[in-house]
Amino acid sequence: MSEHNTCDVLVLGAGYAGLAAAALLAKEGYQCTVLEAHDTIGGCASFFRDGRYTFDVGATTFSGVQAHQPAGMVFAELGIEPALERQEPGMIIRLTSGDVIRDANKDQWIDRAEELFPGRQRAFWQRLYQLEDRVWELIAKRPYLPPVSARDWSQFLHPRNLSAVPLIPGLLRPMASLMSRYGVDTDPRFCALVNELLLISTQNTAQSAPYLPAALGLTYPSETYYPIGGMVRPAILLMRSIQNAGGAIKTRRRVESIVKQGSQWLISCSNGERYRAPIVVSSIPLWNLGALTEGRIRSWAERYAEKFDSSWSAITWYVRVESDVHCPSAYLQVHLEAPLPWTHSTSLFCTIKPPHDHQKSPAGTSTITISTHARWADWKSISAEESSRRRTALIEAVRHVIRERIPEISMASIASIDVGTPYTWQHYTGRFGGYVGGIPHHIRRPLLMLPPNQTPFPGLYHIGDSAFPGQGTPAVMLGAWNTVARIVG
Ligand SMILES: Cc1cc2nc3c(=O)[nH]c(=O)nc-3n(C[C@H](O)[C@H](O)[C@H](O)COP(=O)(O)OP(=O)(O)OC[C@H]3O[C@@H](n4cnc5c(N)ncnc54)[C@H](O)[C@@H]3O)c2cc1C
Repeated sequence: MSEHNTCDVLVLGAGYAGLAAAALLAKEGYQCTVLEAHDTIGGCASFFRDGRYTFDVGATTFSGVQAHQPAGMVFAELGIEPALERQEPGMIIRLTSGDVIRDANKDQWIDRAEELFPGRQRAFWQRLYQLEDRVWELIAKRPYLPPVSARDWSQFLHPRNLSAVPLIPGLLRPMASLMSRYGVDTDPRFCALVNELLLISTQNTAQSAPYLPAALGLTYPSETYYPIGGMVRPAILLMRSIQNAGGAIKTRRRVESIVKQGSQWLISCSNGERYRAPIVVSSIPLWNLGALTEGRIRSWAERYAEKFDSSWSAITWYVRVESDVHCPSAYLQVHLEAPLPWTHSTSLFCTIKPPHDHQKSPAGTSTITISTHARWADWKSISAEESSRRRTALIEAVRHVIRERIPEISMASIASIDVGTPYTWQHYTGRFGGYVGGIPHHIRRPLLMLPPNQTPFPGLYHIGDSAFPGQGTPAVMLGAWNTVARIVG
């Protein structure tokens, strides 16, 4: 081994952003090495095992897999076909007043929404689906977004893009304004349904989430896909694609510094290894990046980190059940009267392993991941004893919710419940403050103001959920796709 390991492209981080970028680059003939701090791949969409039981750690829902959508484009380009099961219904939304079946079928859902809720529901949902189609048209295969160079601007301002101009208000006005226009904002049950869906998709509620990304958030249950075996399975296919094309994935390599030397980038890892390449694609979150760099690069990263200084963290529960759990959809959102202690959302998102998925756990058993929003500020200065006390209280709190609100799970068959806190998230993903939700969409920070994938520093690219076009596996795969298009040229 030379003093420096050299290759064409170094990709930092093996979450969905890094894996997608490396797989696409490797397919283009670039010699890629992926450096990952953890001992496994997947990042926020990773897994852990407890004997024969596999738990998704965070992300559980695949979406954006149609041919014209980001994950679909990446999978098709690489010729990989993950085992994804479309959910019908897309989700069960358990309001405090009863269940709403969120049909995946659009017409069925619009009929149901009209029947259940007041206002011009049909016109509202038709508008959302229309906006969704326009958003995919606008952002898919647009490597120059957001524009950073003269060439990007000339492409951006090209007359063929004029048809996108009417969409601009959707980046600046909140979903609440659209709801009011269609008179669908009068029923607190419907407002709760909208807000809790927006919180898990845009990381904001109707008052602040711009209506264009929010339209994608509200329509996504029409296309929710459960990956057989867990969220890591498609990631494993991406990993194999990298390896088959001659690339390498090196785990337990925590990047400690990123330095430019001439035309090369030098990367140092905590195990003492050093790497060199002309191109670096980093999916290390913005909030961590500054500390790994110096000079102008550090100032650039810190400026963005200050601008986008708030992000959510998460509380997650992992429930092992010694019986099948039958639910019409793998995805169940349970609304609460009030948030659980130290959490900031009035819903829990539960992902229930379908009984036929024997890859995730043995027949006749189930694993369930439950998540909700939390703030690092509530956790950052507490003692180990207090943390332990809170963990116990959180497990009791979720047990109570299961007993009262999720009769599908038999209390007697619960074998264990474990809990992840913002500390757990910080520890396993290395993300500053356990910031795992990406940058919340906000009318004050429209989509095109998100940190761009192309940095001002030649050869350094920034992808992942703290960069354009935002959080969620489809978005980070789109960022990877567009970045690769920029590199390949
Ligand atoms: C609880 C929860 C539920 C979610 N649910 C969904 C969902 O259902 N569907 C969905 O699409 N999205 C969901 N998301 C969001 C989604 O998981 C993320 O937006 C997406 O996975 C982020 O991918 P990424 O590659 O940008 O970042 P990450 O997944 O965080 O990957 C970054 C990788 O970089 C590594 N790394 C960090 N620092 C270093 C370093 N210094 N050196 C080397 N490696 C480093 C990390 O270990 C990590 O593996 C959820 C997120 C959470 C937390």
